[in-house]
Amino acid sequence: MNLIPDFDLSRLNTMGLASHARFGAVISTPEEIDELTGLSQGTGLPLRILGGGSNLVLRDEIAAVVGVMGTKGRTVEQRADGTALVTAQAGEDWSEFVGWTIAQGIPGLENLGGIPGTVGAAPVQNIGAYGVELAERLDSLVVWDLVDRQRRRFSAQDCEFSYRQSLFKRSGNRFVVLEATFALPDTWTANLSYPGLDSLPADADAATIHERVLAVRGAKLPNWRMLGNAGSFFHNPIVRSEVAEGIANVPRYPQRDGTVKLSAAWLIEACGLKGVREGQAGVYDRHALILVNHGGATYAEIAGLASRIVNTVREQFGVALVQEPIEL
Ligand SMILES: Cc1cc2nc3c(=O)[nH]c(=O)nc-3n(C[C@H](O)[C@H](O)[C@H](O)COP(=O)(O)OP(=O)(O)OC[C@H]3O[C@@H](n4cnc5c(N)ncnc54)[C@H](O)[C@@H]3O)c2cc1C
Repeated sequence: MNLIPDFDLSRLNTMGLASHARFGAVISTPEEIDELTGLSQGTGLPLRILGGGSNLVLRDEIAAVVGVMGTKGRTVEQRADGTALVTAQAGEDWSEFVGWTIAQGIPGLENLGGIPGTVGAAPVQNIGAYGVELAERLDSLVVWDLVDRQRRRFSAQDCEFSYRQSLFKRSGNRFVVLEATFALPDTWTANLSYPGLDSLPADADAATIHERVLAVRGAKLPNWRMLGNAGSFFHNPIVRSEVAEGIANVPRYPQRDGTVKLSAAWLIEACGLKGVREGQAGVYDRHALILVNHGGATYAEIAGLASRIVNTVREQFGVALVQEPIEL
């Protein structure tokens, strides 16, 4: 393992923030995680495992040992009942992995195509898009338990998934996802409910849906290689129905338990914050949920703008926005 002091993370986060960690390494075998654990214990610095850096807001200097998952590999096991069990290692690029399953003629992940980041991070926040969440397709996964220093397998049910949440996110970095297995039956029902996909014919195949998902994403979201960003910066808030009813015209998405999910983008736009800029940090002028780096933005600028949005939405609507990207 090539352990690097003063590890440069500037090119390893899609927000494009300049950042260094005290130590870092790219992990190419699961055993190397144990080596980094030793270094973490020896130095007293916490160990943080990262993937593609697409859900992060990084401070300039990070007092941590950082391991970037770089493990590769994909396999398919065809079951007699027609289900493909597809396994990918944590360091695989999620979007490439989805494209590969579609090219193999295996449907099921098409709505989740184009999401940046790695396979290993995808279960951490139960990624979701275009009406589908990872939880609906995951069979099981293997983690490295940093406390017990051993491998463990979790079924999808064990992962305690909910909206952008999982056991892993709540567990304070205890578990490192090593590989994930998806159960993709050949008798598959397309999910075309989401705007942008609803104009496709009902019998559209997975490749057509995947292509459309990539096109819709490309038109809607800024390309992080051109304009640094971390995707949606806030979760859509889930509030009591009385709170939702008190906000005129807000789009409401009733939940099974009687609560209501609101559009964070709508709330931010209604506060007049779409397109605002503070220094080199800004709210994307075509999508109010995305904070962007106009070039050379600092952590302080992004964090300052995020606080301004949270405070303004709370004052105007009494709704607390929760930040999605993890701060390091
Ligand atoms: C343009 C853009 C669009 C996006 N669109 C979507 C979308 O449609 N839907 C959606 O859900 N998300 C979306 N995201 C957010 C992001 O892509 C996902 O959260 C993604 O899963 C993050 O993966 P990553 O490898 O980049 O993780 P990182 O950003 O590197 O890490 C995120 C968190 O996961 C932890 N982590 C990383 N790898 C592991 C591992 N192997 N084991 C345990 N913990 C780990 C890290 O410690 C950190 O806490 C978008 C982001 C961008 C930039």
